[in-house]
Amino acid sequence: VLLPGGPSDFGSLLLSPPVLAGLEAAGFHRPSPVQLKAIPLGRCGLDLIVQAKSGTGKTCVFATIALDAVLLESPATQILILAPTREIAVQIHAVITTIGIKMEGLECHVFIGGTPLSQDRSRLKKCHIAVGSPGRIKQLIELDYLSTGSVRLFVLDEADKLLEEGSFQEQINWIYSSLPVNKQMLAVSATYPESLAAALTRYMREPTFVRLNPTDPSLLGLKQYYKIVNSHPLPHKTFEEKTQHLQELFSKIPFNQALVFSNLHSRAQHLAEILTSRGFPAECISGNMNQNQRLDAMAKLKQFHCRVLISTDLTSRGIDAEKVNLVINLDVPLDWETYMHRIGRAGRFGGDMGTALGLPLLPLLGANSALLCLTGTLGLAVTYCCRGEEE
Ligand code: ADP
Ligand code: MG
Repeated sequence: VLLPGGPSDFGSLLLSPPVLAGLEAAGFHRPSPVQLKAIPLGRCGLDLIVQAKSGTGKTCVFATIALDAVLLESPATQILILAPTREIAVQIHAVITTIGIKMEGLECHVFIGGTPLSQDRSRLKKCHIAVGSPGRIKQLIELDYLSTGSVRLFVLDEADKLLEEGSFQEQINWIYSSLPVNKQMLAVSATYPESLAAALTRYMREPTFVRLNPTDPSLLGLKQYYKIVNSHPLPHKTFEEKTQHLQELFSKIPFNQALVFSNLHSRAQHLAEILTSRGFPAECISGNMNQNQRLDAMAKLKQFHCRVLISTDLTSRGIDAEKVNLVINLDVPLDWETYMHRIGRAGRFGGDMGTALGLPLLPLLGANSALLCLTGTLGLAVTYCCRGEEE
C-alpha cells in the first residue's frame, strides 16, 4: 500500500482535497520534477519564472496553482491565463477542467478570436478562471464584459513568445495595466532567451526562478536526424524532392503520429493535398484557416483521427498530442527556439521520468532510412536542409 504524503507524490504538496482528487482522477499520480519544485513555491504566492523543456507538464503546474487558489464562493474572475495561440488556450482549458473535475461549481472558460462575442459575454457572468488569447481578452476587457478587478493570479504560458518583440507585447502591456497592482504572476516557457528576462522585469518584482536543465537540449530523448536535399534553382523541384523522401519515410518508419512543419502556409496546404492524393492521408493546419477548421484539425490529431498533420509554426509550441513520435521539418526553422519547440512536439512527458537517452545531435540521415527505429526512444525528428543549412 502506498501511503500518501511521501516526498515525491502530489500528497506531499499540501494541496486542497478536491485538487488532489482531481489530479488522481486525471491519472496524474506522481509530480514531474518541475511540478514538484514549482507548485509549492507558487502556492506560497511567489511570482515565478518557470522554465522546463517541452512535455514536462508545465500546464499542470499553473493549473494546479490556479485551482488551489480559486475561491468558488465568488463568481468573479480571479485568475487570468494567456497563451499565444488559440489552440494552446483551448488545450489549457481542457487541462484545468480535467484537474478541476472535483471542484463543484467551478467555472473555467476559454476566450479566443473567431468565436461569437455574445457567447463570451454570457460565460463571463460567472467565470472563476479565464483562459484566452491576448487579442480576445483585451477586447473583452475593453467591452467591459470581463472585469479584472478581482484578478489575483496572472499567468503567461509560452511567455517568451507572448513577450517577443513585435508580437503581443502591446496587448499584454495593456491587459497588465488593467489588472490590480496586488497580484501573483507566473511566466512559463520551455525556452528562455535573454530578451524574456528583460521583458519580465517590467512586470515582476524579484521573481523566483524554477529552471530545469536550462542548457541541455540533447536530453529530449529524441533521435534527431537531418537529410540533405539538392537545392534546385526552381523551389518546387526542391519541394518535390523533399516530398518524395517524406513518402519513403512514412512507408518505412513505424510511427504513431507525425507532425510536419513547413515555414509557409501555402506549402503546408499543398503538401497535405499531395500526400493525400498519393495514399498518405494528411490534414493541414495554419493560421489562414478559419477557427472552426483549426479546432477541427487539432481535434483530429488529439483523437487520433489523423496520423499526419502538416502545420506552420502555429502549432510548433505548446500543443500536446501524446501519440506524436515523429516530427519532420520540411524546411529548416528560422531560429533555434523554433527548432526546439517543434521537435518538442514528439516525446511528450517522459523525458524527465527516466527514459531520456543521451543522443548524438543530428547524425546525417543515410540512404537506408529503413534502419531508423523508434524503439527505445521517445521519438524521431528529421530536418530537411539544403547544403549549408545543416549548420
Ligand atoms: P509542457 O507544457 O511542459 O510542454 P504539458 O503540460 O503539455 O507539457 O504536458 C505534457 C503531457 O504530460 C500531457 O499529456 C500531460 O497530460 C502529461 N502530464 C503532465 N503531468 C503529468 C503527471 N504528473 N503525470 C502523468 N502525466 C502528466
Ligand atoms: Mg506547454
